Amino acid sequence: MSSAIQTAAIDWQTDPLGEIPVSRQFGDVYFSRANGLAETRHVFLEGNDLSPRLASLADQGYFVVGETGFGTGLNVLALWQLWQQVRPNNHSRLHVVSVEKYPLTRADLTRALAIWPELAELSTQLLQQYPPPLAGVHRMIFAEERFSIDLWLGDAADCLPKIHTQHRFDAWFLDGFAPACNPELWQNDILSQIVRLSGIGTTFASFSVAGVVKQGLRAHGITVTRPKGFGRKREMLKAYWAAAPSATPETQPRPAPLMSADATDSASHTPITIIGAGIAGLSCAYALLQRGYVVRLIDAIAPLAGASGNPRALLMPKLTPLSHVSEHLHTLGWLSTIRWWSVWQQQQPVIEATCGLSLSTDKQPIAFERLADYPDTLVQAQSAQQTSQQAGAKLKHTGLFLPDAALLNPAALAQVVLTHPKLAFQRASITALQPSTTGGWQLLSDTPITDAFSTQVIVTAARQANKLCPSLPRLAAIRGQISMCDAPPNAPTLPLSYGGYCTTIQQAGGMQLLFGASFIRQDDLDDLRLEDHQHNQQLLAEVLPSVAMALPPMTTWQGRAAIRAQMSDYLPLVGRVPDMHGVWVLAGLGSKGFAFAPLCAELLVAELLGEVWPVSSTLGHKLRAART
Ligand code: SAM
Repeated sequence: MSSAIQTAAIDWQTDPLGEIPVSRQFGDVYFSRANGLAETRHVFLEGNDLSPRLASLADQGYFVVGETGFGTGLNVLALWQLWQQVRPNNHSRLHVVSVEKYPLTRADLTRALAIWPELAELSTQLLQQYPPPLAGVHRMIFAEERFSIDLWLGDAADCLPKIHTQHRFDAWFLDGFAPACNPELWQNDILSQIVRLSGIGTTFASFSVAGVVKQGLRAHGITVTRPKGFGRKREMLKAYWAAAPSATPETQPRPAPLMSADATDSASHTPITIIGAGIAGLSCAYALLQRGYVVRLIDAIAPLAGASGNPRALLMPKLTPLSHVSEHLHTLGWLSTIRWWSVWQQQQPVIEATCGLSLSTDKQPIAFERLADYPDTLVQAQSAQQTSQQAGAKLKHTGLFLPDAALLNPAALAQVVLTHPKLAFQRASITALQPSTTGGWQLLSDTPITDAFSTQVIVTAARQANKLCPSLPRLAAIRGQISMCDAPPNAPTLPLSYGGYCTTIQQAGGMQLLFGASFIRQDDLDDLRLEDHQHNQQLLAEVLPSVAMALPPMTTWQGRAAIRAQMSDYLPLVGRVPDMHGVWVLAGLGSKGFAFAPLCAELLVAELLGEVWPVSSTLGHKLRAART
């Protein structure tokens, strides 16, 4: 997955029934002209017996469908519609993993989906989260629907081996163009990956009954049948993994659910305990609450009391060359945070879509030639004249304009999580975790807490994680202070990063300029310091001298200092804590907490519950808490 993703080249053919997208890359239609939706239902939904299987999912049940060739998303939307019709009223969830080598542009996808008015509501939701054409996996979460999609962009041969799951896939849509137009997708090594992700009970459906598909499945001990195809088509493929496999799949059965949120016995109400209510804790809580679990969130002081409590967080990554993007936590996390939290736009939006400019400075030189192949929809190189125009301020720096850069409002995010009916917040300083004789953990604390026992504990308490989990590698302290004052009239009109960063924000007392931040290693004091204000002013003066000159006197400034925790490799610790069964960690987010935490929390919870990982297996392993 090293090169840029090419989008689908589409020709639109018109016939009496309307428009139909045709792939120029493969010379084949995306769906049947007669009735693509009916064919999808016949071949993929009925071919996998999905109605009864989805309808009978137990509470907390998790059903995974894999697909080769996402295309226009028609199969996935038809599945989603069926899910709406048959899903049981419990906490079961449906997850799709689909791969696509040539994703449709947003404009083509919009046009293709407009063909199906009955799917309009679902198409709108899909389009809201449809990712940019960057290689790697992009998770879309439709929490209210108990439905999610992992869209892997890249060749199936590259993507499938990177998928990590403990839960075997339950059903497959073997789509892709006909083997005659696209033999690569139907090769044996792709089939072996499909088999690797499957197990006894998995079903497979395809419109194609080509010998290579039948033989490939049979070679793995999978039973293949050929019932009647759709319309005038004689047959289709329906396969079922019934017998013991000849090749042992690497997947394991899903662990028993930890608890069922709605069951009536008291044990089922046992909450998962999260220690630390910064962005890491709030993100883990949110990932569990979405899945119907009960959460107890504990903090020694208050939610957002530590490094996550600034009035706004700037979501604007330092970009990596495109060849690394599929494993780049900062870029993937940034996109995930914006995608997942933009749905919360009620009273006070969590995400403010501001756009942003990253300036090329001595402190932050930008290697433009290494970023030239990024899609324009994501990044645009700018001359000094253009950066000045964008910022509404005189700048002598070239830079990158990021249309998707945004500000996140931590207090609004905390509000969404803390007001959830299945979350209880408790104030307590946890001093140690002691193994209980009955399994699980006793929470020792300064002050007495109600129910000091928990079977599952997630530690999200920054450097306190080292104290609570002595087997973890050491997290270093980094002090950071931001400055805030009345915004001068010549303040830039969009957020800027330049080694430091600045943005205007609307506060009760009027428009403020927020800028920062100091970065002092091995300093774990959070007092407010004049020299840090001076440092922040100096950083600002290097790019916007006239704005720095126009700031009000420093005595009127406000600020906030906090200590961040960081690993020497700048990546967070995510997942199982070595030697402490039932204890999990998300810590070491450094200064990138808001970009890292939601995606890492999704990874942690996927590991805890035995689900499909939202990142590649390589990236997930890099983040393991067991590393040194
Ligand atoms: N399932 C799609 C739908 O519901 O619209 C239709 C799929 S279309 C017939 C086949 C898709 O497979 C195309 O979007 C094509 O780009 C994709 N494809 C073909 N070869 C591929 C490969 N090697 N890896 C990943 N995707 C591939």
